Amino acid sequence: MGKMTNKDLLIGIDIGGTTVKNAIIDVNGTLISKWEIVTNTDNQGASVPKDIWESVRNRLEELELGYDRIIGMGVGAPGFIEPDTGSVAIAVNIGWRDFQLKDILEDLAGVPVFVDNDANIAALGENWKGSGDQAENMLAVTLGTGVGGGIISNGQIVSGANGTGGEIGHMTVVPEHGAPCNCGRTGCLETVASATAFVRTANEWMKAGNAPNLQLKQEQLGMITTKDIFELANDGDKCHYSPDNGSTRFSVSKCCCYSKSFENCRWWRSIKGR
Ligand SMILES: [Zn+2]
Repeated sequence: MGKMTNKDLLIGIDIGGTTVKNAIIDVNGTLISKWEIVTNTDNQGASVPKDIWESVRNRLEELELGYDRIIGMGVGAPGFIEPDTGSVAIAVNIGWRDFQLKDILEDLAGVPVFVDNDANIAALGENWKGSGDQAENMLAVTLGTGVGGGIISNGQIVSGANGTGGEIGHMTVVPEHGAPCNCGRTGCLETVASATAFVRTANEWMKAGNAPNLQLKQEQLGMITTKDIFELANDGDKCHYSPDNGSTRFSVSKCCCYSKSFENCRWWRSIKGR
């Protein structure tokens, strides 16, 4: 309470197609509060910035945190972003097209706003407080419905064209007869290493009669998810490690960590400890 005029708080926003995840942190990166709101995609997502700012303001009031303590806001958004202008060229899941996200949020909040591709922001966060250990050079891989990535080189995020410099998900890894990808091409990394790819591959095994336990689970549940596949694999269901299964062979975790020195890398330490 004593430092009314000291700016010591940061707002972090992760905009997704279903939810927006918000956080208040201090300058040391300590989490003060985090919560989610629903992404309203009506009207091409026009109300999203207003929804975000209202929710942040309410939370600050609830926690009795002075608005004048906010240094700025960092925002990750999906799709093609121009980091210099904070303009979203295209975000399919939200409906934005040439959407001036930074300008709109700065007008609402009255604090500086930084916007970049969500995978780049994830890489920055992972480098600051996560497994990156503040490395000078790092590749972060985001795995979920799709495959994303962010590259830090010489301490700087590699933005590339429209913030997609680290978008590794659409590299071709299956040059012939690859599965179709959301981007319109075939055989992208995302078609073999994402959650979506796991389920599709599992369905192929079941069709071929190679995954009886999984089949049983699907009949019980009506559908299977990546979680079900991993649970069965953990229980020793060997069918999931058939040599044809590119998903398990491509171990993304192994390319996640290029630390200041290899000895400081958590992945390397964990391998050495085995
Ligand atoms: Zn693709």
